[in-house]
Amino acid sequence: MELETIIGLELHVQLNTKSKMFCSCSNDSDNVKPNTNICPVCMGHPGTLPVTNEQAVDHALLAALALHCEINEHSKFDRKNYFYPDLPKGYQISQLDQPIGENGRLIITVGEERRRIGITRLHIEEDAAKLVHPKGENYSLVDFNRAGTPLVEIVSEPDLKTPEEAKIFLTELKLLMQYLNISDADMEKGHLRCDANISMRPKSDKQYYTKTEIKNMNSFRGVERALAYEIDRQSKLWQAGNPPKEQTTRRWLDDKGVTVEERIKEEANDYRYFPEPDLAPLHFTEDYIDEIGENLPELPDEKRKRLHMQLGITYSQAVVLCSTKRIADFFEDTVTELKAWVKSQQGKSELEEKIQKKLVQMSVSWITTELFKLLKESQQDPEDLKINPENMAELVKMVYSDEINSSAAQQVLKVMFEKGSDPSQVVDENNLKQISDLSEIEMNVDKIVKENKEAVASYKAGKDKALQFLVGQVMKETKGKVNPKVATELLTKKMK
Ligand SMILES: [Zn+2]
Repeated sequence: MELETIIGLELHVQLNTKSKMFCSCSNDSDNVKPNTNICPVCMGHPGTLPVTNEQAVDHALLAALALHCEINEHSKFDRKNYFYPDLPKGYQISQLDQPIGENGRLIITVGEERRRIGITRLHIEEDAAKLVHPKGENYSLVDFNRAGTPLVEIVSEPDLKTPEEAKIFLTELKLLMQYLNISDADMEKGHLRCDANISMRPKSDKQYYTKTEIKNMNSFRGVERALAYEIDRQSKLWQAGNPPKEQTTRRWLDDKGVTVEERIKEEANDYRYFPEPDLAPLHFTEDYIDEIGENLPELPDEKRKRLHMQLGITYSQAVVLCSTKRIADFFEDTVTELKAWVKSQQGKSELEEKIQKKLVQMSVSWITTELFKLLKESQQDPEDLKINPENMAELVKMVYSDEINSSAAQQVLKVMFEKGSDPSQVVDENNLKQISDLSEIEMNVDKIVKENKEAVASYKAGKDKALQFLVGQVMKETKGKVNPKVATELLTKKMK
């Protein structure tokens, strides 16, 4: 029996507001002692009243608009009742039947194909506290600092077909949150959390069968692996004529690479939802929604398309460059600097366009290979990049005009990366300027030819490798300050 997979995701995104969802406690508990960033409201003390955080509502509206959701003019909060040690009030304030937004979409690119993934809903809720389980102990601790933190929950339609698609969707959503600047959406810090619903069905069958919910996936890779594991497990059940009949929740154990059954899934009515009596419902006028919409920045998908069309870079180059907003902006500003430079150098001509294209490609390559390598090696966040676009443009310009060769440029970039220095200053200080005086290069070439008789002989005997060796020797002699092309030309001429 040929089967197909149906996946839907449920995401929790922590909003980067100043204060918590319903009280004035700070929303930043990183580096704060456990149970110090709390107050009677987020602790649910009797007699306290919650107050809605307007900034959180605006963030949620912005996210809903970016996901092309229909915004509910009337929205309200509901109590979701359940008992758990991490829930101080004994209920969570969430939204049941009137979420902020519904019926949206997010476009993802899978290989060459653009896929539309439906967004069922987006709603606001407060986070619970964090349970800490000390290793080897038979008790758990509760840190309430996180209790009351604002979240948006985003639920996708079951439109995803493979673990890879789920990972792409998740990555795209993370990027979107970062572009909107409403969350850092860092999965490692728990600022983006993902649960998945997965079921199988015989191909050509259009019916939905019992789904399984998977929890506790803490990385992008974890999501992909957990789903692949679950596909394998459920496929075997189907092939054995025993597909899942009861809706269950399973927990992903990353170190073991398996999912284990945790419990039979609760129905919504198990939570005894009812409207939150302590909070006024939300009402959004059209004007207000328009106003929020005006704050929508250029989104990743639009930016990729624009860079591809406008600057003549390939779509996949645009994808790589837009993988963080910081780098995408950095690249664009570098190119703007270079364009201004070209314009100042010559009049409008075909040549100008060609030079610009070349400079754009050089920028792409220097940023996506050399700069990315430095970022990766140092594990530095692109947000903390010290190089400014003017200096990056200057470096590209120096390589383009043969003022320095590419190995010198790599050295310069490293210093710029570490200290934010001006490239011409680094070049001067380290005496890296390319030797342009031909007689000086010739002198060095003569010396190398004289000192490497064996290599010269094997070159003359037709061994091309010997030439590479000799070029290398010239580069070494001049500390890499000769253009290798010029050195090669001179060497071949001398050895004729
Ligand atoms: Zn509080």
